[in-house]
Amino acid sequence: MIPSGLKNNLLMLNGYTFSRMSTGLRWYCSKKKGGCKAKVILDSNRKVVYAGNEHNHAPPQYHITANGNYVHIKEYIMIPSGHKNKLLMFRGYTYSMMHTGRRWYCSKRMSGCKAKVALDSFGKISHVEYDHDHAPPTYHVTSTGKYVFIKR
Ligand SMILES: [Zn+2]
Ligand SMILES: [Zn+2]
Repeated sequence: MIPSGLKNNLLMLNGYTFSRMSTGLRWYCSKKKGGCKAKVILDSNRKVVYAGNEHNHAPPQYHITANGNYVHIKEYIMIPSGHKNKLLMFRGYTYSMMHTGRRWYCSKRMSGCKAKVALDSFGKISHVEYDHDHAPPTYHVTSTGKYVFIKR
């Protein structure tokens, strides 16, 4: 068994994340402070030799981007746009709401991009399809916190 990701001192296994106290081979659940006792021990080849999966909580919601970064999928912001609808911004890309407010499609949907994001009833991102076929929009943030998109 090889962990699905090992990056920035964060180990991901079965959807749970573990972090290291020091340079040791023991990794403790990221929710250790919340009382979770789960831990993972790797050997020097980074293979899992022990996995205690006694988590007392649901796994965090992570999404792995194309370049291998873990994104905590609550990380999004709503920004007002010129229209009455808001834009949802997630990892630099913007999404527009469709119909119900639960599904947000890439602002470049009309140009054929199929990326989308879905929110659950708590406003958390529950689903990500991050297959943009274009670069993220260019914008800058003004001193008043306004996003100004730069047309290319
Ligand atoms: Zn845990
Ligand atoms: Zn897109």
